[in-house]
Amino acid sequence: SLVLGIETSCDDTGAAVVDSKANILGESLNSQTSTHVELGGIIPPIARDLHRKNIDKVVKEAMEKASVTLEELSAIAVTNRPGLPLSLLVGLSYAKNLSKESGKPLIPIHHMEAHALTVRLTERVEFPFLVFLVSGGHCLLALVEGVSKFLLLGHSLDESPGDAFDKVARRLKLKNRAEFGSMSGGASIECAARQGDPTAFPFPAVRTGYRDCNFSFSGIKFHAQKLIEKEEARQGVEADGILPNVADFCASFQYGILQTLARRLQRALLFCELKGYLQESKTVVLSGGVASNHFVRAGLSRVCAMYDASLVCPPPRLCTDNGVMIAWNGVEKLKSSKCLVATNDLDSVDIIPRCPLGENITDEILKSS
Ligand code: ATP
Ligand code: FE
Repeated sequence: SLVLGIETSCDDTGAAVVDSKANILGESLNSQTSTHVELGGIIPPIARDLHRKNIDKVVKEAMEKASVTLEELSAIAVTNRPGLPLSLLVGLSYAKNLSKESGKPLIPIHHMEAHALTVRLTERVEFPFLVFLVSGGHCLLALVEGVSKFLLLGHSLDESPGDAFDKVARRLKLKNRAEFGSMSGGASIECAARQGDPTAFPFPAVRTGYRDCNFSFSGIKFHAQKLIEKEEARQGVEADGILPNVADFCASFQYGILQTLARRLQRALLFCELKGYLQESKTVVLSGGVASNHFVRAGLSRVCAMYDASLVCPPPRLCTDNGVMIAWNGVEKLKSSKCLVATNDLDSVDIIPRCPLGENITDEILKSS
């Protein structure tokens, strides 16, 4: 079978054609990152306009690269939840039109489920496994028991780590340096941190009093912003200037983020051990934009090693938003055909801007001690 996947939940317009043997036949992606970095954040109507402008080109390009016609497709998969309402609508309306035009069924896709299952496209990872999604919109730990069966162990109570990276990078004025101009906030911090000492600035431990798997990043971010202010004043840095010891600062901030991620992962692994959830092979899948950070990866893989688990990451280009993961999720869902929506039933599918992943068992962890 052949599935076309379409992704427009946030700021990337993506499309791809994937077959049931996990071959990516054609893909295309238009990223809006540079526009939004320039504007200082995602402005929803602008994101929508860029999706509208690019979606037709992106989908056609993916189909052309795959040398596939609409008639040859088995289904059209599209992200309908969760995400920015205006962005989601562009992809869903486009996919519905394609579906009507071609008579091919639609498969509505949960963006986070797609992120969680992408790894099965490139690697042999069997159910159940633990997934750790660390991105610009989310931070969550979930047990994946099947294509549509997720247990949510923990999630962020405030912002996402990607967001914290982006805001701190902006406060550090990193993009005033030409070499960081086109990078995301997180990538520029990782780059700047390479020459730095991660112990130069202490970052407070987060939520150590709570024995659950939930996250908080606003405290770390706030601490970072205060620290930058203090250092800038101390060193007499000009309004658009950059701290001379920016490398040390970035390394320390990155280490602070890693520590809170590591503690929560440890907690989740202990919980799974206690419950006998991951007996066969212990695999932790790390994905999301922040998963491309090598320092974070290395740290988390050391945590996994302590629990005889192995850390697996999809290739970086599949860790961030793309059409391939949506098409692949469509392929996996197609095998249990109950997710298909026929062309005469398209009105029943709508966007769901807020849609938590799986069954929430975050409280159970607290009680398990
Ligand atoms: P979601 O998928 O949760 O809706 P998103 O699409 O905004 O969120 P992604 O595209 O997965 O998120 O990731 C983007 C985020 O990843 C940005 O916040 C960016 O700063 C961060 N990021 C990218 N590269 C790195 C890196 N090397 N280190 C840390 N963070 C990074
Ligand atoms: Fe995403």
